[in-house]
Amino acid sequence: MPMFVDTSPPGHCIFCKIVAGEIPAAKVYEDELTIAFMDIGQVNPGHVLVASKRHAVTVLELTPEEAAAVMQSAQRIAQAAQQAFAPDGITLFQANGAAGGQTVFHFHMHVLPRHEGDGVELAWPRKEPAVQLLQGYADKLRAALSTLV
Ligand code: 5GP
Ligand code: ZN
Repeated sequence: MPMFVDTSPPGHCIFCKIVAGEIPAAKVYEDELTIAFMDIGQVNPGHVLVASKRHAVTVLELTPEEAAAVMQSAQRIAQAAQQAFAPDGITLFQANGAAGGQTVFHFHMHVLPRHEGDGVELAWPRKEPAVQLLQGYADKLRAALSTLV
């Protein structure tokens, strides 16, 4: 995981400064709602971040239009990365909150070209609970969904 954590206030964060052109970035793509630039850490060659242009901290704060635009940009960048770097695979990764692994608190999605044995790891401790428990979780989520505007 990155060592660096950006705790700047909204509008002054590193990615807002990149959007505004106030600090340099190796820009790949931009449209009305999104911007894509090379991740400074380059976990693998071609590692790109697709960020919302507007300062939203997590996925919870994106408008539906921004959420759709981010995925469309990420797909195009993934297609370009496949052509340019011929990876074995591509991981789309998006972290929300410090507990979710987020270190820059301005929404972004990683487009990460992957190669066999590249050492990238995400611990994924499976629990495999009983079906009734899954049903209970689904009930809870459906109830929450029905309250969303
Ligand atoms: P997160 O951990 O929040 O999902 O990812 C933040 C990413 O932002 C890290 O992969 C880190 O390398 C990248 N990053 C941090 N600061 C800068 C910067 O100033 N410029 C660029 N291009 N990337 C950055
Ligand atoms: Zn920002």
